[in-house]
Amino acid sequence: MFDYHVHTHYSADCHEPVASQLDAAVKAGLKGLCFTDHVDFDLLVNGGPRFEPADLNALRRELDSLTPLYPGLTVRRGAEVALADAACSEAAYEHIKSAELDFVIGSLHMLRGLNVYYSEFFEGRTRDEAYCDYLEGLRRVIRTCPYFCAMGHYDFVAKNAPYQERGISFSLAPHAFDDIFTYLIQNGKTLELNTSAWKTDAPWGLDVFTRFRELGGEFVTVGSDAHNPGRVAKRFDEAYGLLRAAGIRYVATYEKMKPTMHKI
Ligand SMILES: [Zn+2]
Ligand SMILES: [Zn+2]
Repeated sequence: MFDYHVHTHYSADCHEPVASQLDAAVKAGLKGLCFTDHVDFDLLVNGGPRFEPADLNALRRELDSLTPLYPGLTVRRGAEVALADAACSEAAYEHIKSAELDFVIGSLHMLRGLNVYYSEFFEGRTRDEAYCDYLEGLRRVIRTCPYFCAMGHYDFVAKNAPYQERGISFSLAPHAFDDIFTYLIQNGKTLELNTSAWKTDAPWGLDVFTRFRELGGEFVTVGSDAHNPGRVAKRFDEAYGLLRAAGIRYVATYEKMKPTMHKI
């Protein structure tokens, strides 16, 4: 198994040393992982950047000295780039281009200046209204970043949602899902299965990945979005089981932005 969404202290919202995350990957029995620290050039309400983008060249230097200590682990370098508009994607590209990354996730976190993770986003709205708003948002921004490899956490809106039943189903926004998936598939990009929103819930997403497969999606990436070692590879057995049940046959790893398929 491969965890293709892991954060370190190079992300403004994470304090974990790189070595702790590598140790956790070994402990979880992973074959490989990819670090995907935040490169967010989307803006907060007050016009400032959401947070300082990761120093990817410093991470590279640190990994150059650390990775020889982990011979059983294939360690790749990526980034999680915020999706918002073309200017945001271009600013992120300027930031990442010298780092020669293996992999880029494109993620939507902010809608109309509000971080979807915080309660303000949900105020006065039903679950379906809030979730559809996020999925329509994804549909609007998905074409603004030509270079990302995998679209991150389609269910980020569920991660901190205040509702009893937090799962997202395909039937909530079939047109938005179909439009997003068609774009990803036609452009050689893929969809991430991110396990971080599941918390203590039963896993959701079987209908979503089944539809992705029906439209021609053949491979995905799997990520824990771990901001601490306890979450590295969290619930990956269930994630891989769900993907098999959906008919997905491969997970991808990336090197220099090119995917390699691994049968699951
Ligand atoms: Zn994210
Ligand atoms: Zn993340």
